[in-house]
Amino acid sequence: MTTKSSQPSATPAANDSAKDTDWIDQREQRVLAPFAMRSRDSQGRIHPEQEHLYRGPFQRDRDRILHSWAYRRLSGKMQVFTGEMGDYHRTRLTHTQEVATIARTIGRALGLNEDLIEALALMHDIGHPPYGHAGEDVLNECAADHGGFSHNQFALTIVQELEIVYPQFPGLNLTMEVLAGQNFRADKANVELDRLLEVQLVDAADSTAYDAHDTDDALKLGLVSIDQMAQLSLIKTCLDHVAKKYTALDKSLQRTALVHQLIELQVTQLTAHCAGELRKHGFANAFEAMSSDFLIEQPPELADQKRELEKFLYQNVYRHPQLITIRETAQNRLRQMYAAFCENPELFPPKYQRRADLIGVPRMAVEYLAGMTDRFCEQTYREIKIG
Ligand code: MG
Repeated sequence: MTTKSSQPSATPAANDSAKDTDWIDQREQRVLAPFAMRSRDSQGRIHPEQEHLYRGPFQRDRDRILHSWAYRRLSGKMQVFTGEMGDYHRTRLTHTQEVATIARTIGRALGLNEDLIEALALMHDIGHPPYGHAGEDVLNECAADHGGFSHNQFALTIVQELEIVYPQFPGLNLTMEVLAGQNFRADKANVELDRLLEVQLVDAADSTAYDAHDTDDALKLGLVSIDQMAQLSLIKTCLDHVAKKYTALDKSLQRTALVHQLIELQVTQLTAHCAGELRKHGFANAFEAMSSDFLIEQPPELADQKRELEKFLYQNVYRHPQLITIRETAQNRLRQMYAAFCENPELFPPKYQRRADLIGVPRMAVEYLAGMTDRFCEQTYREIKIG
């Protein structure tokens, strides 16, 4: 039973005499582990703003991302499979939500900052162009002489320059911690970059989510079979667990039970492994943890099993002839559109003309194409009458 003394103190909304930052700080002291990032330690925003009465800085970042145009457009961007292949499989938006929920589950179990985790997770794929990695590859090729293109870097451009929603500044004016987290994604090869545990966790949750949902979607679409996948060590472990739990399942329920177990196993093992390691290290604060050699990652045996699964998905799903055809069609379309916008900059909607003057027509063409949903890209392709 909850005793009176353990009741949370009144929120500022209920008691406006409390100082807002005190309340947020007290709440974080109660629920966060010592190595979690705290709102009070944030380096703040590029454009200083007054703190909100009852929402902490990372919660505000999460809300700003959720309400952004680019975030909503994720519903129209493919993850691996296109809209014409059905409506069961993940879009870039539902992938993002799965990453956020997996990261929050693990983050809560480890005592990390869930608001920061959610902000980072909702933002992590916000810079994806239409047609997933196929789109990214071709935009990078088009922009080779103009700085290249990476969806991770473009996410930073979106939240710092392209989202115009506040009169006081361009972009969303996110905290330095969220920007640094995304900057790490954009510059992963840079070993000098330390990152908060919350940033590392979102990266691990991304791979947990896509290994599970790409397996689910590929099985549902019939690109691969359970019998084929049963040869993989991680899938076999999960199927053995399912067989012990349920005596007879039809193919559809066997698939969903397998995918549930695939998520459960990865989340449980990652959480248990990291909790044990964190106990051993005994970090006193977030900065000690981020500058150490400790990493939020799967235990070695599971990491090997995931590599085997990812290799299988790459060879049998991502390179499936059906996807290769869709990929080539989409890439040709983007190449032609890039050339058309470069040759005829008057094709840009008027509001983009000023940015084209600022960053140059080729770069503007890449940004304009990268912001499109798959559907809008196809519609524009038809409208500008290429082909
Ligand atoms: Mg992702």
